[in-house]
Amino acid sequence: MFLWEYYEELIQSKKHDGIRVNYKGDHGKGVCANKDFAEGDLILKDQILVGAQHSLNKIDCVVCSYCFRFIGSVEFQIGHRLYFQSIASSIGCSSERHCHGSDVGSSTCSSGVTKEKSTTLPEEVIESLITGDVSLPFSDHFPLPEIIACQGCEEERYCSQSCADSDWESYHSLLCAGPNTEPPRRSALHKFVEHANETNDIFLVAAKAITFTMLRYKKLKRQNDFQNKSAESNFSLLMEAWKPLSMGFKKRWWDYVALPEDVDASDEDSFRQEIRDLAFTSLQLLKDAIFDAECAPLFSLEVYGHIIGMFELNNLDLVVASPVEDYFIHIDDLPDDKKEEAEKATAPLLDALDDDYAVPCDGTAFFPLQSCMNHSCCPNAKAFKRDEDNDGHAVIIALGPISKDEEITISYIDEELPYEERQAELADYGFTCTCSKCQEEKPN
Ligand SMILES: [Zn+2]
Ligand SMILES: [Zn+2]
Ligand SMILES: [Zn+2]
Repeated sequence: MFLWEYYEELIQSKKHDGIRVNYKGDHGKGVCANKDFAEGDLILKDQILVGAQHSLNKIDCVVCSYCFRFIGSVEFQIGHRLYFQSIASSIGCSSERHCHGSDVGSSTCSSGVTKEKSTTLPEEVIESLITGDVSLPFSDHFPLPEIIACQGCEEERYCSQSCADSDWESYHSLLCAGPNTEPPRRSALHKFVEHANETNDIFLVAAKAITFTMLRYKKLKRQNDFQNKSAESNFSLLMEAWKPLSMGFKKRWWDYVALPEDVDASDEDSFRQEIRDLAFTSLQLLKDAIFDAECAPLFSLEVYGHIIGMFELNNLDLVVASPVEDYFIHIDDLPDDKKEEAEKATAPLLDALDDDYAVPCDGTAFFPLQSCMNHSCCPNAKAFKRDEDNDGHAVIIALGPISKDEEITISYIDEELPYEERQAELADYGFTCTCSKCQEEKPN
């Protein structure tokens, strides 16, 4: 099967009949309109191929590990956040979200900064929110799906059985560290996760990309055996399994990641060596947990570096707005008499949550079709979450009328920047932009 067949199948199975992937454009590949779109029209909802919530964001919100929808209830989400807040204050750290130093190459620990939390609520109050013993006024306007835990580890949580099953089939069956997993593999998985949480949680998404490919390979192999096809070699099946991710595969992480501001240019080589070593350690730990000889090429440092690069170097943010934020806005918008009554219950919570009431789900993800869209500094489409988009899909909306067969473009960067700055940012993506805006603004 060729790559274009993969995209055709993807487009058909997801019923994205408004678009097609084109292979003969100026930039090799691109996405074209298959029909006319008007301004504001939905062009595409692109499902995540591989993605994960950032580790530290798990303190702020509880989402489905597969589709990233908020789960439980508004009360549960608030209780969960306040519970971690109270733990953090009891160990004397009021900015726990910054204390893991998890992002090598971007943010570092700022544990010196202490921010006064306004209030801490009694334990019983927090507990009753988590257990559902109290219900807050008007929370029934914001119903969330019931939580389904992974039957193996109970650590991963889902919005539905179908999300739990899909996650298991696509990634999690190789990464589940529950009691059903053999003890050596389980402890290796724990070590891998611990290392990632202490250093860079991008390793967790990279591991999902690897298990996604391994499980897809196994499925293709079963189909191949079943159909009694002339034995395709294991290697070509592995390449086949890898195809969906191949579009994002561009550069090695440690060669291209931007130098953090606190690293002096003269230390660049040692910085790059350091993060390469970090990736090496992470890969060893992952191999201890899930190595499979048939899939050995996936476990080379070279491939691992590129997989990490694909998530670190592309603009692949996964964001889902918080229903807790919507809830407090709803309360604030109530007519005065109702508002006063409701706030008796909600004001102390809002006080205790402080700014954290509005924290969205935040992570990294790879979107297969969005990643085929070319860049333009005067794009005709953009990624934009509407009010009803409450999961991790990428939503692409038309910025103006687009006619059938026209190429659909999005901007990878802030297109309002001056020409030189745009080109500098786009260099990270490995090209020089020649869109009409750039041609006009290009100095002679
Ligand atoms: Zn889900
Ligand atoms: Zn599990
Ligand atoms: Zn341009």
